[in-house]
Order: sequence, then structure tokens, then C-alpha cells
Amino acid sequence: MHELALMAGVFDIVKKYTAELPDKKVTRVTLVVGELTNAVPEALESSFQVYAKGTNVEGAELIVRRIPLTALCVECRWEGKVEEYTFICPKCSGLGLEIKTGRELYVESMEVE
Ligand SMILES: [Zn+2]
Repeated sequence: MHELALMAGVFDIVKKYTAELPDKKVTRVTLVVGELTNAVPEALESSFQVYAKGTNVEGAELIVRRIPLTALCVECRWEGKVEEYTFICPKCSGLGLEIKTGRELYVESMEVE
């Protein structure tokens, strides 16, 4: 499962952070996930539970903030949301679209108690 691999990277960061706070319990993790990662929220959630089990992250709430795929046309400077991975500029039909957002995958914040 693709999301398990993504979550492995996320947990490397979470562990690095919680290693400095051994007595704390993580209660909430906010994850920023771009559309291009193709990650399914439900699968992210279940992968999160797999990695959290037996750690001080177990029981934490996972918030997934989805970022749409947007691009900038290098020819006419159109900027907007790319629908269904169609990398053609809707304004000038150019093919020179540069991805602006949608590749994100990072931990935005963590709450501990
Ligand atoms: Zn264009």
C-alpha cells in the first residue's frame, strides 16, 4: 500500500520530534497532503494507526489537510487548479504547465500533552 510508505516518512519526523519529549503524548498530528501524492485519506488514517501502535503517538488524532493540484502556464501566466491531471493550459492550450502546489507531504503541526 502506497500510503504505508508515505506514512513511514511522516513517522520518521514524528519520532525525531517526540524523542526530545519522551514523557509527552502526542494528541494530534496535522498532515499536509498534496493531490499529486495520490494518497487516500482513509488509507492514510489506517497507516497512521499501524505506525502509532505502541508508541506515544497511539490514540492521536490525524488531521489531513488536502492541497489541490495547481499549476502556472509558462506561456500566458495562467494560474489555477489542474483538473483530472490534464496538463494543458485552459487559456492558451499550451503544454508548458509548471506545478505550483500538489506535491506537498509534510507534518504541519503536532500537539502534545
Ligand atoms: Zn497558457
